[in-house]
Amino acid sequence: MARELQSRVKGPVRIGEPLARYTTFRIGGPADVLVEPVDEEDLARALAWARDHGVPVTLLGGGSNVLVPDEGLRGLVVRVGLDGIRWEDPDPQGRCGVVVGAGTVLARLVHEAARRGYQGLEPCAGIPGTVGGALVMNAGTRDGTIGQVVDWVRVVEPGGRLAVWPRERCGFTYRSSRMQVEGVPVVAARLVLAPGDRQAIAAAIRRYTAYRQRTQPLRYPNCGSVFKNPPGDASGRLIEACGLKGLRHGRAQISDQHANFIINLGGATAEDVLALMTTAWRCVRDRFGVVLEPEVRLLGSLARRWPPDPVAPAGSSDPNQA
Ligand SMILES: Cc1cc2nc3c(=O)[nH]c(=O)nc-3n(C[C@H](O)[C@H](O)[C@H](O)COP(=O)(O)OP(=O)(O)OC[C@H]3O[C@@H](n4cnc5c(N)ncnc54)[C@H](O)[C@@H]3O)c2cc1C
Repeated sequence: MARELQSRVKGPVRIGEPLARYTTFRIGGPADVLVEPVDEEDLARALAWARDHGVPVTLLGGGSNVLVPDEGLRGLVVRVGLDGIRWEDPDPQGRCGVVVGAGTVLARLVHEAARRGYQGLEPCAGIPGTVGGALVMNAGTRDGTIGQVVDWVRVVEPGGRLAVWPRERCGFTYRSSRMQVEGVPVVAARLVLAPGDRQAIAAAIRRYTAYRQRTQPLRYPNCGSVFKNPPGDASGRLIEACGLKGLRHGRAQISDQHANFIINLGGATAEDVLALMTTAWRCVRDRFGVVLEPEVRLLGSLARRWPPDPVAPAGSSDPNQA
């Protein structure tokens, strides 16, 4: 079957490819089949092959926000490497449209925008991964997200049709989007950026980068924030207040620098990470009554194992408290 895929697409097809090397966590077993399409048509052909054979598909960008199970991923893993940045002429107000391929490294876009004197992407400075992953995750910080500067996103709809979704259709919310909820592949996007002061933009980028270097355990493989922040609070604060900083399981550790980061000390497994996530989740629930939601995308079989305990539907009362 995989040989047939190879004959349909131009990009490389790999069988049983270990995925650890494709994730910033450096964790993850093999993909049944990994394909790296060379262009949008190639991607569409790979997806059509999967549809024809009833094979499940997992999209991967830079792998900076995923936990891949130790047994790997069944079906087809599509590594989206559609790379390219096309700047348009500015409009009369000086605002500039830019069309970006989903596989473009986000940092490259942030730095090109800064060099040209366009603002809006500074909060994304220092965020690893691709533009496609950033759109799906609505990546950013408290100060702004990529979704705020999106004009439209080009996606492959479930039937295989390429479609342009205007921003209103993309459902950007805190670290989520309609593309994420519906598992829709993103192939490109158009962003619109406002003109700004080059020096101020460069200074903001330096500030964001320095803050990350000061507060995040960047010497070890990790996936960024493990949990989303609950409204009005910070997951790192809650996990730290539970006394969990520095807790180890196997070769994974809750960072003693930032409690919402789990680091791979070398040779950590997905099971090690899941065990620490489970401990943190239960402690925060039991101590603060807060149910944390993972920000990291748990792929394959891991998705079916979360949450670790049943969660009472919002608004339901605890009979023990009655
Ligand atoms: C050190 C560090 C710091 C970080 N800091 C931040 C931060 O400040 N703010 C923040 O928001 N995030 C942060 N992150 C998380 C991560 O970098 C972002 O979420 C990033 O945008 C993910 O992009 P990616 O290409 O690596 O996506 P991946 O990790 O490859 O994928 C993420 C999700 O998107 C899906 N996906 C990827 N590409 C596509 C596509 N083309 N079409 C459809 N689905 C796709 C995947 O299936 C997966 O569900 C950090 C991560 C690290 C390691």
